[in-house]
Amino acid sequence: MNSNTSSQPLIAIKKLLKIYKTPAGDFTAVKGVDVEVQRGEFVAVIGKSGSGKSTFINMITGIDRPTSGEIMIGGEPVHSFNEAQMAAWRGRNLGIVFQFFQLFPTLTILENVILPMELNDLYTKSERKARAMHLLSKVEMTEQAYKLPSMISGGQQQRVAIARALANDPPLIVADEPTGNLDSKTAAKIFSLFEDLVASGKTILMVTHDSDLARRANRTILISDGEIVNEYLVRALSKLTQDQLVEVTRNVQPQIFQPGATIVRQGEVGDKFYILLDGKADVYLSEPGGSQVYVNQLKRGEYFGEMALLGGGLRTATVKASNDAPVSVAALDDMAFNQLIATSYTLRTELTGLIQQRSVYDQLQAVSSSLTAKTLAAALENTDSVTYQAGREIVKQGDVGTTFYFLLEGKVDILVKDEQGKDELVNQLTKGTYFGEMALMGDSRRMATVRVSKGRTAKVVELNMQEFEKLIAASEQFKQNISKVAGVRKKELEGSGKRKVKK
Ligand code: ADP
Ligand code: MG
Repeated sequence: MNSNTSSQPLIAIKKLLKIYKTPAGDFTAVKGVDVEVQRGEFVAVIGKSGSGKSTFINMITGIDRPTSGEIMIGGEPVHSFNEAQMAAWRGRNLGIVFQFFQLFPTLTILENVILPMELNDLYTKSERKARAMHLLSKVEMTEQAYKLPSMISGGQQQRVAIARALANDPPLIVADEPTGNLDSKTAAKIFSLFEDLVASGKTILMVTHDSDLARRANRTILISDGEIVNEYLVRALSKLTQDQLVEVTRNVQPQIFQPGATIVRQGEVGDKFYILLDGKADVYLSEPGGSQVYVNQLKRGEYFGEMALLGGGLRTATVKASNDAPVSVAALDDMAFNQLIATSYTLRTELTGLIQQRSVYDQLQAVSSSLTAKTLAAALENTDSVTYQAGREIVKQGDVGTTFYFLLEGKVDILVKDEQGKDELVNQLTKGTYFGEMALMGDSRRMATVRVSKGRTAKVVELNMQEFEKLIAASEQFKQNISKVAGVRKKELEGSGKRKVKK
């Protein structure tokens, strides 16, 4: 392959079509698909039996020929090769692994691995043997080298087939259900061999029936009735089984929004769930004054609109198409959405978890808009919110403080002890403020008590010292902001204390 094409995708497929002529008439097995695969990617090809996976794969390997369309691999037009060109190209550029191993039964294991080098006249005779032994050692088959295929197990035969596929050191390995004829434990071992190959720089395209294995690949291409289902839709719904995925894709309506267009509006009744397929979407929260605060950006494969459908009904944020490019979404109406979460327990759990996380996250982002979404996300990873009941003391004056609090909802009283040691109310904080920063910024003893106001609850996010420091370190503006607030508060608290003393 040309080395000067390394910035291009390794595989570029355009409008690939395969029509089988059958006695019953024409049958379109692959319906004009477009795919790109980058160097070093591990791509899992999934789909129901009969969906067209093998037809698709066989056109890439040249085992089958397209009716029309283009297959460029490493810059070369594989679709237009004649048989001789195809054989020569394949021998040097492609390793193929089949479901039923397809080793030559009359050749030893070693001879099977040497064969591709002979056929393509690569390496010297002595190099060939050394190389084959080396490849067999990589798949732990050295001891079987002089046996015939019939003398070893299926899993072992597949190891040999992988060694054979590597014989000519091809950049691309294509495998059609290589674990389909193996028990799950053996399948897992074979699969990890493929993972090793990707780690060593190979590009792999693998058809698999096994959803769990497919999830371990970099990308999943789902074929349904000869068509490729949008990859970002598949990614967003990776918790579904293949059958559920195919079912859902039948219910989605594609929609395009122009740059800047509003997709959902805060406060409106939500009746659709969206999966972002192309472009970026910006999330805003409306402030009581009417202004909008930018809180997050969503990318391809992420979804939104689930909060209104699973939660209370009203949109909790506004989502707009970003200004730079149109946004393409897959929209599911509430019926399709409810069906979706009814069929998948794992997806429902994920969505419910996401709602909790998102509402916390969005509010925090609104509070401290000087932080980038990424910074905040990193600091809040694995952080849950905690709700305190009315009258609960969250922070006690005089204690050593190691926690920083963001107040998401509710109201807290700030109390300082007077000379009789009685708590005196000096301030109240509401949603969108933080406390506990002073003890973390130098004065290690809490200077005030923070207690949930009467008749209210307080929902807070708690950050420990390390998380707090990470946050401070990540945003200079946030650091300045918080130092200023801490300074002002300290003066206030000291002032109130002095007044008490003088009195
Ligand atoms: P998969 O690998 O996903 O199970 P295939 O690519 O083998 O699917 O087959 C896709 C469809 O094309 C099936 O309906 C199959 O019956 C049909 N098909 C495959 N090969 C031929 C052929 N040589 N002639 C006619 N139809 C075929
Ligand atoms: Mg097949």
